[in-house]
Amino acid sequence: MFRVTLDSIIAVYLVVILCGVFFSWVAAEIFRRGRENRRRRNFVICGICDHVFEDPSEDDLAECPRCGAMNERERVIEI
Ligand SMILES: [Zn+2]
Repeated sequence: MFRVTLDSIIAVYLVVILCGVFFSWVAAEIFRRGRENRRRRNFVICGICDHVFEDPSEDDLAECPRCGAMNERERVIEI
C-alpha cells in the first residue's frame, strides 16, 4: 500500500476539476460555432432590394418576401 499525502489529493482534485472545465468549454464552443453556422446559412440578402430574410429551406434559390425576386444562396462573409 502506498501513502497518499494531502498535497497529492489536492493536486489530483485540481487537475480533475480544471480538465472538466476545459473540456466543457471546448464542447460549448464547438456547439456554439455549429449553431452559428446553421443560422448564418439560412440568412439570405436580396440582390434587388437588400432585404435580409431567413429561408430555412435547402433550395438553391430563395424568394425575397419583400420584392419577390429569386436570390441565389450565397455564403455570408463577415467583415
Ligand atoms: Zn428583395
